[in-house]
Amino acid sequence: AVDPALKATSTTCPYCGVGCGVLATPDGSGGAAISGDPSHPANLGRLCSKGSALGETLGLEDRLLYPMIRCSSGAMEQIAWSDALDHVAHRFAHIVARDGPGAVAFYLSGQLLTEDYYVANKLMKGFIGSANVDTNSRLCMASSVAGHRRAFGADTVPGLYEDLDQADLLILVGSNAAWCHPVLYQRMIANKQRRGARMVVIDPRKTDTSEDADLFLGVKPGSDTALFSGLLVYLADNELIDRDYIARYTAGFDEALVRARAIAGSVAATALATGLSEQDVAAFFQMFAATPRVVTLYSQGVNQSAQGTDKVNAILNCHLATGRIGKIGASPFSLTGQPNAMGGREVGGLANQLAAHMNFTPPDIDRVRRFWKAPRIATHEGLKAVQMFEAIGRGEIKALWVMGTNPAVSLPDADAARDALKKLELLVISENVLSNDTVGAGAHVLLPALAWGEKSGTVTNSERRISRQRAFLAAPGEARPDWWIIGEVAKRLGFGAAFDYKSAAAIFREHAALSSFENNGSRDFDIGALSSVSDEGFDGMSPILWPFRFGDIEPSERFFSGGDFFTNDRKGRFVAPERPVLRTETHEGRPLRLNTGRIRDQWHTMTRTGMSPRLGAHLPEPFIEVHPDDAARYGLADGSFARVTTDHGQCTLRVVVSPRQQRGMLFAPIHWSEANSSSARVGSLVAPFTDPFSGQPEAKATPASIAPY
Ligand code: SF4
Repeated sequence: AVDPALKATSTTCPYCGVGCGVLATPDGSGGAAISGDPSHPANLGRLCSKGSALGETLGLEDRLLYPMIRCSSGAMEQIAWSDALDHVAHRFAHIVARDGPGAVAFYLSGQLLTEDYYVANKLMKGFIGSANVDTNSRLCMASSVAGHRRAFGADTVPGLYEDLDQADLLILVGSNAAWCHPVLYQRMIANKQRRGARMVVIDPRKTDTSEDADLFLGVKPGSDTALFSGLLVYLADNELIDRDYIARYTAGFDEALVRARAIAGSVAATALATGLSEQDVAAFFQMFAATPRVVTLYSQGVNQSAQGTDKVNAILNCHLATGRIGKIGASPFSLTGQPNAMGGREVGGLANQLAAHMNFTPPDIDRVRRFWKAPRIATHEGLKAVQMFEAIGRGEIKALWVMGTNPAVSLPDADAARDALKKLELLVISENVLSNDTVGAGAHVLLPALAWGEKSGTVTNSERRISRQRAFLAAPGEARPDWWIIGEVAKRLGFGAAFDYKSAAAIFREHAALSSFENNGSRDFDIGALSSVSDEGFDGMSPILWPFRFGDIEPSERFFSGGDFFTNDRKGRFVAPERPVLRTETHEGRPLRLNTGRIRDQWHTMTRTGMSPRLGAHLPEPFIEVHPDDAARYGLADGSFARVTTDHGQCTLRVVVSPRQQRGMLFAPIHWSEANSSSARVGSLVAPFTDPFSGQPEAKATPASIAPY
């Protein structure tokens, strides 16, 4: 029973990008009672299975509680904080002096708070002098970032969660929102039930989301661009576009239409390119055309592709052509995977951005340099995640600091990533847990970071709403905030004056001030109005949308219904996509395509959700889903084991025979690893092909073979 004297703390869920508000009431012995926060606009009190089980995941089992260092015997031994920090700073300084700043890198996480991200970026990009700072958001959202920047001039989401309540047509592309964004999905279903909104689901695989669809389009993998190119042509040929909006507020329509016509110039051509029936294609086109209030939601099936950015822009093209953007119930909408992928992007968490959405252009570099008083600011983009680990494998990067993520499991070609880690002269890991596959890949220094419930700062969810994550538990052992750990290393590198932070609030104020520094109206991403927030104001900060338009003291809600894009000429851009082609063909030896994704009740590599027996009961073991015809063809019985092989690795997985799976396709969940299951590191199967604009890897269509085990 919870002591009524212990008050509830308002915080946010650490899992998906919905960013639900949570009330956590500590029980006085390290646990807490969890409920949804009815006052948080993201969830209005609702929680999904993962969020409501948070109280079951608060123990200290397998927790990293003290700094540790690998000693000469090879064992990890406890060490004092000051010695650990001295060692990390000394080794980084030595390698930078010997090999230059390009020989070191940070790999961050969408689990970090915005303040942690800000300090890590500042140290690496402003003071060490390298932009080799990337994040696991590269695996999650980078194609949406690049698509938004190409179309809107900046990485932003034009709509709000409210639009899901107000749309008459909801189109989900590459999204199993019923499992991966459940609370938002509940809002969509409530809209269907209350207002009669219709739902189209576009996915090679039938899912719990497609069960509720009015129209399910089981497209061929990689063909989303063809579907939306065909839609653009249909809208144009039938005079169903908004010519006034196109003329006044956009550029590039004619070129994009020519390219779309070459890709899918008719309903029949679209059907051929996507593997759909002409009847279904026509039904979809007619629904879109006839429904002004339409929200198109896209997630990992779109983003995790070697042509993911073009897929995003093919979708955005259709919304721009109809002017259905930034209006009530009408917008494209990127569903963010992680709790703070958006916050990390805001402070430059990607290797190709600076901070506050500034880029590697001479004026932005100079502005950030002067604001930070940075002695050695990076002047060009760094290596994106997959390329960063390839550079590690080639021995070009000698020191890596991993914070709050498990790349030995989550990266594509994960065996190669794990082997690359073993080549490092210095692998520093800031973590909550004592054992995971990345730690096991040969960490030299382990630094105990505060976990959810212990740390304090801000996160930003899929609708651009900044919320506070607040501590409600005491820090265990010697665990410290990530921003403190990074700052202490920075001080030891000689940059003390710039990293003398006393609180997350101080870092947030600096981030907000940088966003408005010397802004004469040329930059829209400005939260300077928050740069004077007091410590008390930060403590009590309510969820707030951002960015504010330049000069505004209130945040803007929706964007672009009246143009005014974040481009130099204030016009939105149609983008002519490349013809959709998967990077590798299947062949006799690899006749199937492997798709990977999440399951309902687990999160990433299960370090937290794996602690809950209730969550574990949903789907308790790793599996490979196979269509019945393929199961018969390859001699696989439901419940048996199969060996799945790609050009990159092998896994042994339990067979689930399911008609939900498309013929010729396999599906495996991403969550298991060597730390929790010996042979199901599915990332080891995934090809490391990346999108040329976003650097995001393809995780949905690796050629594979399967055989009984
Ligand atoms: Fe947490 Fe996402 Fe579930 Fe909300 S929907 S409770 S943010 S996992």
